[in-house]
Amino acid sequence: MKRSLLFVSFVWLSGATAGAQEYPNKVITMVVPFTAGGPTDTVARLLGAPMTKALKQQVIVENVGGAGGTIAANRVAKATPDGYMILIHHIGMSTAPALYRKLPYNPMTDFEPIGLINEVPMTIVSRRDFPPKDLKELIAYVKANKDKVTYANAGIGAASHLCGMLFMTSIQTDLTTVPYKGTADVIKDLLGGQVDFSCDQTTNTTSQIKADKIKVYGVTTKTRLASLPNIPTVDEAGIKGFEVAVWHGLYAPKGTPKPVIDTLVKALQVALKDATVKQRFADLGTEPVAENRATPEALRAQLKAEIDKWSPIIKKAGVYAD
Ligand code: ASP
Repeated sequence: MKRSLLFVSFVWLSGATAGAQEYPNKVITMVVPFTAGGPTDTVARLLGAPMTKALKQQVIVENVGGAGGTIAANRVAKATPDGYMILIHHIGMSTAPALYRKLPYNPMTDFEPIGLINEVPMTIVSRRDFPPKDLKELIAYVKANKDKVTYANAGIGAASHLCGMLFMTSIQTDLTTVPYKGTADVIKDLLGGQVDFSCDQTTNTTSQIKADKIKVYGVTTKTRLASLPNIPTVDEAGIKGFEVAVWHGLYAPKGTPKPVIDTLVKALQVALKDATVKQRFADLGTEPVAENRATPEALRAQLKAEIDKWSPIIKKAGVYAD
């Protein structure tokens, strides 16, 4: 009797240790809450390659667009907490609680944060033949034509929605918004002239701006960007104090074991030092965060601070979704 008990506990212990050490032993899915080819997808795919190397298991990207990124976040919140389904998300993680009356997940309590990734500036852009030439003209034009001008975004909860909401409240003008499942499709329609203007991350707009395929009115950071040195900030071009930076983070479902999170943190930190990631980020107007911010503690603190920052602004703007 004694012997068999001992035997059982030995097997159980070695099984548990082996399980933890074996992670990861199959493909890991990184869920992107917007369509392929957009800014968040770009960051995910750039990280995916070096993370695959670091983890010795393939990290694949799955695009789950819709409802401003909340469909994907909800899916990962409800996924098995085993480290095989993780979420990359941006500032929308902190704006959704104020925007959605019935958000089916809690960003603070339904996830295990892994770490911050980067901060990405945004640009106010339009179709190439949109009449206004600079931000001051854009404001005047939009006010004068508010019934026909269209603003494209990636749904309530997307960064493009937040930026548009700030723009509209700054100039006290409500516009018709056209929601997409990601800004990859917004850019396509700006190129095709189906919509008038938008605000999107430099990770998605830089090459189109440089190729002169879309018009740009300003960058949303406090200072100009090294990657687009001739483009004024929105603040200097006409809307004082206008500032929005999109930060990305990596999350696992709540309850994911600590050793698994630790492995993912290490892989993220390795990926952020990868030469290709650094170079491509720089080309697109962003850079990896320092290693001490690619940690669960830093992401948790950032998420909390940003929820506290945006909730009153959104409530004042009176924007809601069900
Ligand atoms: N990040 C989104 C995308 O990848 C766009 C947005 O947030 O506006 O399409």
